[in-house]
Amino acid sequence: MIARVLSILAVALAASSSATAAAPPVVVIDPGHDLRANLQTEPIGPGSATRKIKDGGGTRGVVSGTTEAQLNLAISLRVLALLERVGVRVVMTRSRTAGTSIGNVARAGIANRAGAELFLRIHADGASSSAARGSHTLYPALRTGWTDNIYGRSRAAARIVQSELVRALGFPDRGLQERSDFTGFNWADVPAILVEVGFMTNPTEDRALATEAYRERAARGLCRGVLRFLGRSPTRC
Ligand SMILES: [Zn+2]
Repeated sequence: MIARVLSILAVALAASSSATAAAPPVVVIDPGHDLRANLQTEPIGPGSATRKIKDGGGTRGVVSGTTEAQLNLAISLRVLALLERVGVRVVMTRSRTAGTSIGNVARAGIANRAGAELFLRIHADGASSSAARGSHTLYPALRTGWTDNIYGRSRAAARIVQSELVRALGFPDRGLQERSDFTGFNWADVPAILVEVGFMTNPTEDRALATEAYRERAARGLCRGVLRFLGRSPTRC
């Protein structure tokens, strides 16, 4: 009897200690841009002599007049709510559109310090041709010393998130793209991707993304992609 009580106690203790040991995964959401561009420069990677401006400011809806910074934040806040509801801890690089953009070294630094499972950067695209449309997802190109520690996981995340985003929004699938020139990727020490949900310079996609319904669709697709990448069930998004 005592042995049985002790074994039950041991099982209970093991269960409670594993519950406390399993800290919730952290995802850093990075809504692209801010109220104002930042034309200061920063190195494109650690130790690099090549510098790029911190933030050109993003694009704008050709029909809606919405700034990309506003759209990125609106979608990001919905992803935040969906992920928190299922127990994912979310750190935002910004939660308002109110200041000068902090730049990409700083954004990556937030993800690194948070020990993020995923650094999810949310943007919308712009092009000189209003015909350009569709969703795509970018991830870091392989570069020894900069991205070799995050390349494989980033690419895996990009594949999953892109497929869920396309499924949720129904925009054309522009696929994946590796980028060696993204400061925010080269400074990241955690898996990083950047989604371009659609083109704000395309009237059809701009009109859609100006609606609550499509913003919610985008957020649900991103939530599903993140949960699948984390090895969790996406059904609660
Ligand atoms: Zn952007």
